[in-house]
Amino acid sequence: MNILVLGSGGREHALAWKLRQSKLCSRLLIAPGNAGTSQYGENIDVSITDFEAIKKVCVSEFIEMVIVGPEEPLVKGIYDFFKNHEELEKRTVIGPSAAAAQLEGSKAFSKKFMQRHKIPTAGYAEFDEKNYEAGKEYISNHALPIVLKADGLAAGKGVIICETHKEALDAFEQMIIQKQFGEASSKVVIEEFLKGIELSVFVLTNGQQHKVIGHAKDYKRIGEGDTGLNTGGMGCVSPVPFADETFMQKVEERIIKPTVRGLSEEKLEYNGFVFIGLMNVNGEPYVIEYNCRLGDPETEVIMPRLKNDLLELLIGIKINQLDDLNIEFDERSVATVMAVSGGYPGEYEKGIEIKGLPDMQPADEDVLVFHAGTKNTNDTVVTNGGRVLAVTAFGDNLKSAVNRSKKELGNISFEGMYYRKDIGFEFE
Ligand code: ATP
Repeated sequence: MNILVLGSGGREHALAWKLRQSKLCSRLLIAPGNAGTSQYGENIDVSITDFEAIKKVCVSEFIEMVIVGPEEPLVKGIYDFFKNHEELEKRTVIGPSAAAAQLEGSKAFSKKFMQRHKIPTAGYAEFDEKNYEAGKEYISNHALPIVLKADGLAAGKGVIICETHKEALDAFEQMIIQKQFGEASSKVVIEEFLKGIELSVFVLTNGQQHKVIGHAKDYKRIGEGDTGLNTGGMGCVSPVPFADETFMQKVEERIIKPTVRGLSEEKLEYNGFVFIGLMNVNGEPYVIEYNCRLGDPETEVIMPRLKNDLLELLIGIKINQLDDLNIEFDERSVATVMAVSGGYPGEYEKGIEIKGLPDMQPADEDVLVFHAGTKNTNDTVVTNGGRVLAVTAFGDNLKSAVNRSKKELGNISFEGMYYRKDIGFEFE
């Protein structure tokens, strides 16, 4: 099968690495890819939201399956675009339809969906400019802390946790009246604060059958001890010690099954990954958010732990035979540590030479180096983004996995390179 992967991060490198291991994969193209993905397939210079250009590639290169990494093409309707073009119809897009992608694209939509299907989540109300005054009153009477969320996509910046009513009222005004996030904050979801530990569960589904393909905990803050600014993710671990059988059973029964049933009842077409962000509140799972794709850096631990042939699973959802496949995991722990450019998540330079990179993969076969913001320039790999490399390692426990990953990072260097040394700290 000829495959096109859309995206250019560590997630797409991990997907390319995994797909290349499948005997069902004939050709692998990545648009636009990075210096790492070019080790496993052909990078092509096509924008992930230029559907016409993607169509041309699919036709000329006989692509049979498109695997979408980031959310943007999905929310913009790539699934529907393929369905509505005769010459593309028979090709599979791994992802949801634009209607189903609203689970990620609109927080108000996802909250209503959870309410309809009795899926545990924080209590909430939604407001826009028309009922702005009612929103202010709602905030003033709400317990603290209180969570404000811009309805639409805001690159992870649209969620504000407020410790005082004044802070919340100011943030509310910024969003609704000052249009801080443009159209994305024309509607605001106001939510109860849930106290607990987060984790993410990854499900593959076609709206009828489903399989859990892994779970992980990521570390979003730039600073050690979870301090400082939010980033795209500084590291990740899997499995998560508290996600034992009892907890995962609750997730399956109370969250995953009603979610898949909900997709089918509401005829929301979905053929892909569901990323469920959860809060463990005293042993009880609550949904924080749905994403309609894999996470980054979660993919960099999920793919190595998953023993199955990924392509076989993806074909399984297409032909509705996912139930016939058994999911198998590597029993060891996996961690990934992200090396970022100096200054990230603020301003940073690009084009800095990366030294000490292994040619393909490191000598230690339990270590994998996934590229994120990198590119090839004159036979040299240089930095090309804030998050540069994700170094993944296996270990007998989380601590040894993290240590192994840090050891490999000790061989790699670029000016300004920074990484968190404390990934997995609360489980030591
Ligand atoms: P991201 O891009 O980081 O996934 P997002 O913009 O989609 O973010 P959410 O995932 O809904 O937004 O929220 C971001 C973060 O805010 C969560 O990962 C969680 O740490 C925190 N958060 C969100 N909702 C709540 C809540 N109700 N209680 C406590 N914390 C919350």
